[in-house]
Amino acid sequence: MVRPGTFTGQLDRLASFSRTDPDTQGVTRLPFTPEQEEAARWLAEQMDALGMSPVIDPCGTVAGTVPGEREEVLVLGSHYDSVPHGGRYDGCAGIIAALEVVRRLAQAGERPRYSLMVMALNDEEGVRLTEGFLSSRTVCAGLSAGDRERIQDRMSGKSLGELLDASPFQGTLIRLPENARAYLEFHVEQGPVLDQQGLSAAIVDRIVGVYHCFYQLDGGQNHAGTTPMGSRADPVPVFGRIAAQLPDVAKAHPGSVATIGWMEVQPNVPNVIPGRLAFSVDLRSADPEVLDRLKLETDLLVRNHAAQAGLSVARTDSTSAAPVVMDPTMRGLLERCVARRGLPVFHMDSGAGHDAQIFAQVLPAAMLFAPSRGGASHCQEEFTLEADLQLACDLLYAFVKEDF
Ligand SMILES: [Zn+2]
Repeated sequence: MVRPGTFTGQLDRLASFSRTDPDTQGVTRLPFTPEQEEAARWLAEQMDALGMSPVIDPCGTVAGTVPGEREEVLVLGSHYDSVPHGGRYDGCAGIIAALEVVRRLAQAGERPRYSLMVMALNDEEGVRLTEGFLSSRTVCAGLSAGDRERIQDRMSGKSLGELLDASPFQGTLIRLPENARAYLEFHVEQGPVLDQQGLSAAIVDRIVGVYHCFYQLDGGQNHAGTTPMGSRADPVPVFGRIAAQLPDVAKAHPGSVATIGWMEVQPNVPNVIPGRLAFSVDLRSADPEVLDRLKLETDLLVRNHAAQAGLSVARTDSTSAAPVVMDPTMRGLLERCVARRGLPVFHMDSGAGHDAQIFAQVLPAAMLFAPSRGGASHCQEEFTLEADLQLACDLLYAFVKEDF
């Protein structure tokens, strides 16, 4: 289904590059799949039509340029990969908005202040590979031989190097231009704050830090019928106590969140007391000190309950990202763009990770949010009004005309 409306229609077209039916099952566009490659080609065609001399590299990064009054480059980017059965706005809205800004500039016969580089980034989500942010990390820091070997495809077990060698897009990897000035990303909020408050735009102050780890509780596997209750070392009730109390750890630090999203018992059969239970923990906060405290308090919670029940504990740390502060000068300029439209200036933190946090390590970076209806995201119900998307384009358009 392609709905009318400049912006929404473009998003619908991009959504059609999906392994699943976007109308009934949501968008599934994982990296290094035919649908991702088709989407990359389509995005390059759109850039080509705008005279942007696009390039697609083996990572699936698509980049096109527009000359500005200055040679220094402002990068406008977001990602076009999706989660399985995801929405059509996540990431894609930022790319379509950037292209819309370029289209408006051409239509008005105007030049942006800085030269623009629009980047459509691949594999932000980290669903398929063992690490996410593939495009943004490669653009900002390059890809070492160690990265090619270490990063693996969870689906096939292949290394990233093998996937890149098999890509239909060969040639050199796209890197940040040496004269890059800043990075700006428009994204849908993916949460309920703007929708609940009836607001159309937000300036992002911070992107939360994320800490992921896996715990393994080891007890004793035994017969479910013959082992008396007092003689068991069963990890399941212990896990139950931990899972019940973890929310209180997060609630003690307002604004932070804690989630157990995965767990597995072994051997996972009805008539055996499991010998082992493993689970993930995802902790997030925009404050680095709070994130450290969440880690410590969670670890204490797990170890105390395990010790009381005579279980052993092992922890494996996984992906971590420190909280990131968006550039104050760019935030100030976004504020002025919003205020000039007569709209309330609203700031918020992002609870989701974004490519902007990678760019922020090497460049001034900022983000603009539009509301997500009902806060729905990473699902097919994801929705943002055409008017809010057009407003974001207005704000980006105003931004690219300014000096900072
Ligand atoms: Zn996203």
